[in-house]
Amino acid sequence: AVTTAALGDWIRRAAAALSENADYLTQLDSAIGDADHGTNMNRGFTAVTAKLEASKSADIPALFKTVGMTLISSVGGASGPLYGTLFLEMGKNAPAGGEMSAGDLETALRAGVAGVVARGHAEAGDKTMIDAFDPAVEALSASVAAGGSAADAVTAAAEAAKKGSDATEPLVARKGRASYLGERSAGHIDPGSVSATILLRTLAEALK
Ligand code: ADP
Ligand code: MG
Ligand code: MG
Repeated sequence: AVTTAALGDWIRRAAAALSENADYLTQLDSAIGDADHGTNMNRGFTAVTAKLEASKSADIPALFKTVGMTLISSVGGASGPLYGTLFLEMGKNAPAGGEMSAGDLETALRAGVAGVVARGHAEAGDKTMIDAFDPAVEALSASVAAGGSAADAVTAAAEAAKKGSDATEPLVARKGRASYLGERSAGHIDPGSVSATILLRTLAEALK
């Protein structure tokens, strides 16, 4: 089962990985955006870890809500509200209490990604974080349907996210700042698809 403790471990691992990759994410954003994605994510997840240290709740929906609210208030830009929505919707769609099944995690993540789509209106192929999240949710579902554990299912999801992220390189951006560049946005990996992949990879690590 997926516990509140494991999810707290996820957020700490995500914060560490986003900090380690902050320069890389900002470098990707400097090619097709405004060179702040690493700084944005690092600031947001530093704030989130501080908030979680201070909160003693063992409730999974409460944890996701805290993460979402903190990201919205500390990140700004496009990614703050989008990642904030991901976590708020996961919180609204996770069962109360300190434990959930792989199927519950699938339901929550699917709802979270649907929330990002409802907010940002990006479709697969628009060169955004959705190009990582969409295949990840499908891989997660397939693994859960085949009886995979939460750890196995999220590992498959993280692999699918990485492939989806790599596949953003040749695409022309149709959403976000990168879309202002038109054809010149092609030839660069989308930064948000990389941060999304980092989130899934660190969740897989936390569940192992
Ligand atoms: P900003 O573009 O405001 O500087 P960031 O640099 O932090 O914000 O985040 C940029 C990332 O946000 C992009 O790489 C992309 O993945 C994601 N993004 C931007 N707009 C959208 C959207 N409408 N839907 C989904 N993701 C988006
Ligand atoms: Mg940016
Ligand atoms: Mg910005």
